Amino acid sequence: MLTPEQTKELRARLQADLSRLGDHAQTALEFTMDRDRDRVGRDSMDESTEEEIYSTQLRLHDRETFLLGKIREAMRRLDAGTMDECEECSEPIGFKRLMARPVTTLCFECKSAREQVEADEQPE
Ligand SMILES: [Zn+2]
Repeated sequence: MLTPEQTKELRARLQADLSRLGDHAQTALEFTMDRDRDRVGRDSMDESTEEEIYSTQLRLHDRETFLLGKIREAMRRLDAGTMDECEECSEPIGFKRLMARPVTTLCFECKSAREQVEADEQPE
């Protein structure tokens, strides 16, 4: 069980991650809109370079959306008081581990066992 202090610390940590990602997502969106607006009459930038930047932005945006979902889920688990409970074996997840990786839902042992699956889930 997490102490009230630990819960508070984790919440602050998640909120910081959330607002940081929120800013980035906003930037990606603005980039997309700028791109459409600037399209007419622009010939300075090579078309393939432009496509490359655009798809990189999109990939980044997808990844952020994925992470945002994970963080919101962690918040929900924190509110429900189950954040430190391993999804797989119900053993408590250490506070240090949660602070290092707040979106985790598995204890270290289960996480290690699932390493391969997790690698498939996350791009890069
Ligand atoms: Zn476990």
